[in-house]
Amino acid sequence: MFFHAHPDDEALLTAGTMAMLAAEGHRVVLVVATSGERGQADIAPGEALGETRIAELYKSAAALGCARVVNLGYGDSGLAPGGGVAEDRPADAFIDADGEEAARRLAAILTEEGADLLTIYDPAGGYGHPDHVQVNRVGGRAAQLAGTPIVLEATVNRDPLLRGLRLVRRFYPQLDVRAFERAYSPAEEITHRVNVRRFARQKRASMAAHATQATGADTRTLGVMLKIPQPLYRLVFGTEWYVQRGLPSGTRLRHPFEVPPKA
Ligand SMILES: [Zn+2]
Repeated sequence: MFFHAHPDDEALLTAGTMAMLAAEGHRVVLVVATSGERGQADIAPGEALGETRIAELYKSAAALGCARVVNLGYGDSGLAPGGGVAEDRPADAFIDADGEEAARRLAAILTEEGADLLTIYDPAGGYGHPDHVQVNRVGGRAAQLAGTPIVLEATVNRDPLLRGLRLVRRFYPQLDVRAFERAYSPAEEITHRVNVRRFARQKRASMAAHATQATGADTRTLGVMLKIPQPLYRLVFGTEWYVQRGLPSGTRLRHPFEVPPKA
């Protein structure tokens, strides 16, 4: 089960792993906390945008071979200009939800599915969106409640990310690389490096499915990503990274279900 904050987060962080596991015959379930109705798009924020983005999520899930999509239906907390929690967030914002209740709802789905694995985010929430921080807390607690054996924090290896973004900046000089300098995880914390180059086509299709996030104003992340030429794309997006807490430092696993060597 892959737990994400908003439609399109799966495309950037875990799409290759999802496509890989589905191709291996696993049942892959995608859960989002919100419909992302406060994301940047040409459609004004609100219910219509949320509905459009959920439709895009289903398209992305189909491209990746997901068996089921669940929306927990919390309000998108939005991101304040310059980062942090937006003051004008909705009353049902995910960041204000009762974490224990949200965790119980997610745990019920984990139990129903008999999930072997749950992905959440790193504690910093990647680039710090409040809903992503909440995914870490709620997801971690849900796995505890359900007894889910493997919990992986989907993250990005910051070092190649910065190298990749500096390359992308050649095609796209407005890209603000500095915004990523403290985001995600340093290389030494990463326990899983999953090679997903064989699933570049599915990952790209997943990104393309999120049309509201990939077209129009070209400052949107997905729009930038989709402009990258295919060979460079495979290089930049050929690996997905995870942190499994409690493993000895220096652990280097290649597959979500690979058993760590005994310490
Ligand atoms: Zn998000």
